[in-house]
Amino acid sequence: MLVANALACECGAGLLCGALAEGLPARVCPACGGVLLALDDYRVWRQTLPPGAAETPAGLAIVGEDASRARSCPACSGPMARYRVLPVSSFRLDRCNHCQLVWFDGGEWSALVEAGLIDRLDSILADGWQRRVQADEARLRRENALRQRLGDAAVDELQRIQSWLHSRPNGRELLALLSGEPI
Ligand SMILES: [Zn+2]
Ligand SMILES: [Zn+2]
Repeated sequence: MLVANALACECGAGLLCGALAEGLPARVCPACGGVLLALDDYRVWRQTLPPGAAETPAGLAIVGEDASRARSCPACSGPMARYRVLPVSSFRLDRCNHCQLVWFDGGEWSALVEAGLIDRLDSILADGWQRRVQADEARLRRENALRQRLGDAAVDELQRIQSWLHSRPNGRELLALLSGEPI
């Protein structure tokens, strides 16, 4: 639960008691739309979600605001850690480990709902997710560089052939034939 005393947003306004959803209390900034959520409250609320309530659509990119400097926790004033949500997106969540509070900039909670990730908050804040986002991003950067160099048509065709080869049990043999003499 959030501490009872008055908390202020970095924008200067006082945070008000509100809710992100039915049964999910949070502190909301009336000026910038930011939201402070206690992970304890989130976990209790998450138990009430029906299974499959939030499926993850593949490949959805959310573009959000990116304040590059670290935010400080409205409760303890300590620095909050930043977490990537999706590859190639500036959407970041901030968490105070000490207070177990998560900060959403205005619009970020609804972006999380749209992305079908509201039941994944704990996963997003875990190492595995953060590593995966970085790996996906590196792969997309490589692909982009290839597209610049070879053109979209060539890369699309390569990807089509590659996934076809991967789907065949004799893919290696087919690949050797492909790079050899004309058949
Ligand atoms: Zn604010
Ligand atoms: Zn804190």
